[in-house]
Amino acid sequence: MINYNKIEKICRKYGADFEINAPLALYTTFKIGGPCDFLIKINNQELVSEIVKSEIPFRILGNGSNVLVKDEGIRGAVLLFGRDFANVFTDNENAYCEAGANLTSVCHTMRDASLTGLEFAYGIPGTVGGAVYMNAGAYDGEISNVLVYAEYIDEDGVIKRLNEGFSYRKSSFMSAKRVITSASFKLQKGDKAQIAAKMEDFMNRRRDKQPLEFPSAGSTFKRPEGDYASRLIDVCGLKGFSVGGAQVSEKHAGFIINKGNATCKDVLKLTEAVKERVFKETGFMLEREVEVLG
Ligand SMILES: Cc1cc2nc3c(=O)[nH]c(=O)nc-3n(C[C@H](O)[C@H](O)[C@H](O)COP(=O)(O)OP(=O)(O)OC[C@H]3O[C@@H](n4cnc5c(N)ncnc54)[C@H](O)[C@@H]3O)c2cc1C
Repeated sequence: MINYNKIEKICRKYGADFEINAPLALYTTFKIGGPCDFLIKINNQELVSEIVKSEIPFRILGNGSNVLVKDEGIRGAVLLFGRDFANVFTDNENAYCEAGANLTSVCHTMRDASLTGLEFAYGIPGTVGGAVYMNAGAYDGEISNVLVYAEYIDEDGVIKRLNEGFSYRKSSFMSAKRVITSASFKLQKGDKAQIAAKMEDFMNRRRDKQPLEFPSAGSTFKRPEGDYASRLIDVCGLKGFSVGGAQVSEKHAGFIINKGNATCKDVLKLTEAVKERVFKETGFMLEREVEVLG
């Protein structure tokens, strides 16, 4: 039995906003997912530590841009990292970002401070916490290349730091119940105009190639060794293939999009059908990048 009075009391103590029965579709870029019992808008580190120590069951959400929330939603609490915990500071060549800061505004701050090294992250629609967890990357860059340490709350509610255990779209945060609260990055002094031009170039490439006009969670599958998921899906003739409201994008075969009213079940069915067909026709076993929550 989940003690909701206890969660509410902790939230009030820290002045954190919360929502009961929050429709998670509104908190994911896929616009899919049922409600969660208790959504807590994280506003400081001690709040996280107290929730962890309280042993209330919880899941974590950043901008919801790499998750597929089940249609039945999530029981227990969801810790939402967003604008209430999103400070970004720079000091010389170092940057310190709270976990809820979104990568777009972090990149703007770095550009304004003439710091180079994070341009690759411009246009990835996630938070700092989600990007560290996923070791997000693009255009030959990835978070772990510039990370000095990530600060997190461990299973006992204790604050710790970590700077190892990263590989392609993987981090050691995936195998343990740890809540990332901030990240520190090491960058270099650069030329503001060049940094801005690089960011703009990356954003234009995204606009050209990605179906940004539809809800999605970005690339559905990881890049298999020796090829590209989008190329493999394309050669199997799967562009436009759909199940219910979920469709393999006609613009970019690596994206599954929500054409309208797609359910989590539609996306999962489509994902499995794509994997099966690609394996049968090319011998590559695709692995899902998007995480299922619920
Ligand atoms: C249009 C589009 C383009 C994209 N392009 C790219 C790209 O180029 N490269 C790329 O790598 N990804 C890309 N993505 C995927 C996604 O944006 C990234 O994986 C991003 O880092 C996820 O961050 P988030 O805050 O949205 O995390 P969420 O989706 O909210 O969460 C993802 C996972 O991280 C966990 N998590 C989130 N915050 C924390 C925290 N504070 N502590 C512990 N765990 C946490 C969640 O529990 C979940 O398991 C794209 C997505 C879209 C929709």
